[in-house]
Amino acid sequence: MLEKNYVLGLDIGGTNIRTGVVCDDFSLYGFEMTSSVDLFRAPGGEIQALASHVRGYCRRHAEFAFPRAVSIGFPSTINKDKTEVLSTPNLPGFNKLAVVELLEKELGLPVYINRDVNLLMMNDIHAYELEKADIVIGCYIGTGLGNAICIGGQMLRGKNGVAGELGHVPVLGSKRVCQCGNVGCMETIASGKYLEELREKHFPKDSLAGLFRDHADSPVLKEYVEYLAIAVALEINILDPDYVILGGGVLQMQDFPIELLETYIKHHTRKPLPNDNLQIVISKQNQESGVIGAGMDAFRRMEKGDDNDSTCIRPCWSYA
Ligand SMILES: [Zn+2]
Repeated sequence: MLEKNYVLGLDIGGTNIRTGVVCDDFSLYGFEMTSSVDLFRAPGGEIQALASHVRGYCRRHAEFAFPRAVSIGFPSTINKDKTEVLSTPNLPGFNKLAVVELLEKELGLPVYINRDVNLLMMNDIHAYELEKADIVIGCYIGTGLGNAICIGGQMLRGKNGVAGELGHVPVLGSKRVCQCGNVGCMETIASGKYLEELREKHFPKDSLAGLFRDHADSPVLKEYVEYLAIAVALEINILDPDYVILGGGVLQMQDFPIELLETYIKHHTRKPLPNDNLQIVISKQNQESGVIGAGMDAFRRMEKGDDNDSTCIRPCWSYA
């Protein structure tokens, strides 16, 4: 039995579910990545599938059999109290599901949920020691355009829990239909999904993974990088952040032109300020980041004694 104080962290994506044990010093043990496609193939059985995944993990890792809590990141919008998944295009079975109540009943353990992008940013804020910064924004370009905002040490939630949806800022003139149902959302042109569409149209014989390696100078890809930059600059110009964290799978692609992205961001950021004093940091994100972030979130919320509030990130670091 592990002597430490630990929780089980889960990072659920449309393709994979990442699982691991996070200790109160944020060290990670027993990391696993498995298919979420198989796990959630029984419609209506999502909670039971999740519970059996947790039980299975704890059985396989007997030394981690008794976590203090289970903490889960969803690629979804979550209600303000962080009890219910509101909508999740990649995992529709979780839509409007009261995950915390139902899963706590199944497991007999405290359950915490959060937006996966909030958890990624908590992990990055910790990794870069940005806890004392007034305003930090995170833009994570994966399949979609993930966004998290931290103001005064608090993750911004908004009236309904859905603040920080940069991907759904309307773009003038665009007729593209977004997953959310609106026409012309930023995410329809500033996301990995759109990059895949560009590949199909302009480079049909190439694989997505090698796109920047083989076609970095193509006008199509340069324009795409500028779209990403416009999204980031938009939020910079509104919030004048102390730090801008950039991450996500698209930025981790081979030979992604990160310098060009930064150049375009600066091009579109207001002069002279905030442009002249811009601090951009590149996320240290890897497969484990969301799981560690989930663990951090659980420890912080347990420490605070407020199960449902997920705003203040500062007090939690005091015990670390
Ligand atoms: Zn949208």
